[in-house]
Amino acid sequence: MKDEPYEVPEDEKALCWASIVQAISILSRLQKGLWRGEIRDLKAVVKHALGSGNVELSDVPEPVPGPDEVKIEVKAVGICGSDIHIYHGDIQLPIRPPVVMGHEFCGVIAEVGSSVSKFKPGERVTSETSAYVCGSCLSCRTGNYNVCADKRLIGYWFNGAFAKYCVVPSRLVHRLPENVSFLSGALCEPLACCVNGVIEKTAISPGDVVVVAGPGTIGLLSLQLVKAKGGFVMLCGTGVDGNRLNLGRELGADVTVNIHEQDPVEVMSGLTDGAGADVFIECSGSPDAVRMGFQLVRRGGRYTQIGLTGSAFELDFDTVAYKELTVKGSLGQRWTSWRRGLKLLAEGVIRTEPLISDVLPLTEWMTGFRKMEHREGLKVILEPVL
Ligand SMILES: [Zn+2]
Ligand SMILES: [Zn+2]
Repeated sequence: MKDEPYEVPEDEKALCWASIVQAISILSRLQKGLWRGEIRDLKAVVKHALGSGNVELSDVPEPVPGPDEVKIEVKAVGICGSDIHIYHGDIQLPIRPPVVMGHEFCGVIAEVGSSVSKFKPGERVTSETSAYVCGSCLSCRTGNYNVCADKRLIGYWFNGAFAKYCVVPSRLVHRLPENVSFLSGALCEPLACCVNGVIEKTAISPGDVVVVAGPGTIGLLSLQLVKAKGGFVMLCGTGVDGNRLNLGRELGADVTVNIHEQDPVEVMSGLTDGAGADVFIECSGSPDAVRMGFQLVRRGGRYTQIGLTGSAFELDFDTVAYKELTVKGSLGQRWTSWRRGLKLLAEGVIRTEPLISDVLPLTEWMTGFRKMEHREGLKVILEPVL
């Protein structure tokens, strides 16, 4: 019997091709650096191998942009909850170590590739994270590249922003509005995620009663977006969220509920004459919050899932039929979410700076990770002042 020739699937070919292009670009960088004697090492927070831990502050070569790439001097970069998951090796998105972590950032353009005409050095910018998408699947062709099955992200697959410089494809770059500080700008990425979930995926009308579950970064940005749409917000958290619920009230929450002290079903019943919430937005990633959402939302209401629980759990899904719920999911962000988020930041409709609890030098990344892990403070920003 003859061996069947192995057919390489199309998506693997595309990824292979992307790797070849990257290898050529790395070679040309090496050449350039060697010729000019310019290769310098940068300190960067690197995930060296899959599994738990394996993260260190290491020396990496200073990146050089390829023809259609932009090199950004990082001014501020946020530690995301998913960075903690990358640290522990318990996230389902593809990671390719050794890789510089960090994906929530902004800075100043240091250099542009030979075919980049839209941007120039000195411009203040921020960047999307989907450095590779296939471009040919139904999701990509309909603008929903955030759910492209082959999506590969900076900080996961491609080198990210926990370093002084980060190189990204020019199509990912957005200008930072003049009145938006670098610190505020570091939260553009989580804001765009919330714009996708709250504005683009969930229908909210003025006067809607909306529950936002989980007063972390995503919840506090989502709450502001609901307020911008004219909704009435009940923000829910647990016993450890006291400060975050207070901040939620400052940022516009109409009612806050510590579910360890008050029964949210009772509070909602009082607010809506027993009807329930028009909309429930889940930002905590807790199975209990999901189950609570199915209870709190009214018949004919809308439910949107932004949080990730990380594993399967028990849920009475018949509620969707009995209550005729509209259930939506939201993952990452698209170009439209960035555009809208940046406009809302520029207009001062959304405030990101109050969410920043700590600003640390990049060298103290471990302290930052520890704070995020133990829920001390809220958003920790690193500054690569090296
Ligand atoms: Zn993030
Ligand atoms: Zn695709």
